[in-house]
Amino acid sequence: MTGGVAELNEPLVAVQGGRARLETPALLLDATAFEANVAALAEMARASGMGLRPHAKTHKCAAIAKAQLAAGALGIACAKPGELLALFEAGVTPLMLTAPVASRRKIDRLVEAAARGAELTVVVDRADLVAAYATAARAAGTTVAVLVDIDTGLGRTGVVTPEDAVALARAIDAEQGLAYAGVQAYAGNVQHVFGHGERRAANQAANDRLRSALEALKAAGLPAEIISGGGSGSHRLDFEADLLTEVQAGSYVFMDEGYRPVDMHGAGQEVFHFSLFVAVTVIAHSANGEAITDGGTKSFAVDGPPPRAFLNGIEIGQIVWAGDEFGRLKTHPGHTPPPAGSRLECTVPHCDPTANLHDVIHLVRDDVLEAIWPIEGRGLSD
Ligand code: PLP
Ligand code: MN
Repeated sequence: MTGGVAELNEPLVAVQGGRARLETPALLLDATAFEANVAALAEMARASGMGLRPHAKTHKCAAIAKAQLAAGALGIACAKPGELLALFEAGVTPLMLTAPVASRRKIDRLVEAAARGAELTVVVDRADLVAAYATAARAAGTTVAVLVDIDTGLGRTGVVTPEDAVALARAIDAEQGLAYAGVQAYAGNVQHVFGHGERRAANQAANDRLRSALEALKAAGLPAEIISGGGSGSHRLDFEADLLTEVQAGSYVFMDEGYRPVDMHGAGQEVFHFSLFVAVTVIAHSANGEAITDGGTKSFAVDGPPPRAFLNGIEIGQIVWAGDEFGRLKTHPGHTPPPAGSRLECTVPHCDPTANLHDVIHLVRDDVLEAIWPIEGRGLSD
């Protein structure tokens, strides 16, 4: 184990009442909600005949990736080489890197993992990157599957025009050591559009741009076998549109306050459950009587709406930041600040960067701490 709070919590594993006695701040995963989320998206994908490649940028945790694979995922997506390699060393495969890189050493390390069985797929949006992956693959005596990254409106990575998509696909196809496998088109600009109708319109616009590229590739004799994209916000629309071959959703496994206002199925209902929480302890009270907790911006990523705080399963308020190591509980009307030593479980503003702040995930079911899972890719943003 990694020491610190994880070590202090280790004796509580499998002990009745262990959850309530956790040392804090501790990242919690509610097993029931987590398992329901994994099963729900897997079932929706199965029902629509579409593949699922859950994004590990959200959790960076091999145990979670393995649960997603066991539920039928085609493979696991990663945002960064460091995260991908950490998961590979922990036994996760197949793996897809969903962003371009610009480093010879990173390419070498990725291709070396491919040679050792990572079943690697990468994306490219520049000709020099095609050549660099090809050189590395030939040197390692392996073959790497490559997708053309397409920008359908996010304005981040990816080629913009169908002509550029065809040129890159040709370049990949011509290289020994590379296997042209299709395209990636991640519509990140669509995911957090709150209203279902507005999000559908945004997704249709992205799909129209993707369709132009797909038609051009087909006409050039390079049809895309893999069409990877989508996320938690658009998953329902992606299953309906049936244009992608696989969905890369990540946040669905945890949920966060940023996703709470997104009406995922147009029915105003919760589709995925909140499974990720940070447990904190009330350690003091301020001059005006507010409860002060032991979790601040070193325990929560704060790029999202404030966490809701639960005491014994009841929502009693919201946390606002009181420093790097402190939170301030703003109680809802009718609730009073709990005494020092009280344990609160808080939702998170943004799940992916919050998981990255913690060494381990505490898997809890009812009042039991079931397991302590390492977050192998934690801190690896290289
Ligand atoms: N695919 C890519 C390329 C991403 O960058 C992300 C998230 O940023 C995702 C998939 C997953 O999106 P979400 O967490 O909204 O499900
Ligand atoms: Mn995110």
